[in-house]
Amino acid sequence: MPASALPRVVILGTGGTIAAAATATTNTTDYELTHGIEAVLAAVPEMQAYARVSAEQFVNMASQEVDNATLLRLALRINVLLASDDVDAVVVTHGTDTMEETAYFLNLVVKSIKPVVVVGAMRPSTALSADGPLNLINAVKVAAAPDAAAKGVLIVLNDRIGAARHMAKTHTTATDAFLVSEFGTIGTVLGTEVNFHAQPLRAHTIHTDFDVTQVATLPKVDITYGYQNADSYMVDAAITAGAKGIVYAATGNGTLSEAAKRGAASAREHGVVFVRSTRVGGGSVTHHRVDAELDTVAANSLNPQKARILLSLVLTLTSDPRRVQTYFDHY
Ligand code: GLU
Repeated sequence: MPASALPRVVILGTGGTIAAAATATTNTTDYELTHGIEAVLAAVPEMQAYARVSAEQFVNMASQEVDNATLLRLALRINVLLASDDVDAVVVTHGTDTMEETAYFLNLVVKSIKPVVVVGAMRPSTALSADGPLNLINAVKVAAAPDAAAKGVLIVLNDRIGAARHMAKTHTTATDAFLVSEFGTIGTVLGTEVNFHAQPLRAHTIHTDFDVTQVATLPKVDITYGYQNADSYMVDAAITAGAKGIVYAATGNGTLSEAAKRGAASAREHGVVFVRSTRVGGGSVTHHRVDAELDTVAANSLNPQKARILLSLVLTLTSDPRRVQTYFDHY
């Protein structure tokens, strides 16, 4: 294909390990975020064979620093880019630690069917067998692939393509940290071939109710955790700090101890929406009679950090728990 006919892909650099360097090639775990997006791109000039690539340094941060304001600005920038006839797809380079949160947020608020691919790396750019360069070129291949459109926001790592709704980090250091047990990947990148084998069915992008164009700040949602001997004061602290929603990373299938129930009741007395997610790392939290008794919401198969993202957006529309539940059932 002549270069002038290749898709135009904009890469937005946000930081993360893919943009990091260590002092030794054998050091894969202790490194500094040093590289700008141009240095990240310089490692893979081969990507020009797949797309006409341009890059913007959107921010340069470790992803544990990404906050609601950054998410909102990123979504606005991507929506502006994708509204242009000169842009065919966007790739976001991102730290893997909170990549699933950013990707799921974008999945709910990007208003385009053009591909958006979020990519990162588990090893810094200086490491032997650094995974960033191949992950990045794979992300560009996916972004440029005709089949990538209308699938929602995608995460590409370790030769696999996943849906933002379902991908989650499940390992602290391994290059296959984004293995998805229950829901599987939706495609692979093998050599030059991009193959899709599944279509995400949860509503995304142009099919969602969420429009953040006029949203200046997202309602505050905090996460608290269930464990043996837990008291309810962490929930009370979140309420006092001004949370409008609380995601409870409960035990098992969203079970609530008597203390957690006191927390949920206190949340409801203050008009705070209380969502039962799970600390388990797999499976869904199913509807339960406790939701009728305490006016709580079941998180479906969203892990706590993704449930926080969805609840933040839903609270821009309603704080009625029964309506909130319908969004968790749908998205
Ligand atoms: N904690 C850093 C971040 O999330 C590095 C993790 C990574 O990118 O793998 O940005």
